[in-house]
Amino acid sequence: MPIYEYQCRDCSTLFEHLTTSSQDSETPKCPKCASRHVQKRISASAMRVGKKGTSLPVAGSPCSAPSGFS
Ligand SMILES: [Zn+2]
Repeated sequence: MPIYEYQCRDCSTLFEHLTTSSQDSETPKCPKCASRHVQKRISASAMRVGKKGTSLPVAGSPCSAPSGFS
């Protein structure tokens, strides 16, 4: 089961969110400030297997600078 790492854009809290296939598009809330302005990060373990096999629902390059979400 994929674990995604998110970072809150409001308070910079890093947290992990376990996604299930049925809730894949659900945006988690920040556990600290309850903001939904969170940015998905790819965890290290996901990156290791992510290049091949699984097609990750990546909505943008994880390495590029954040571009204009707001
Ligand atoms: Zn927050």
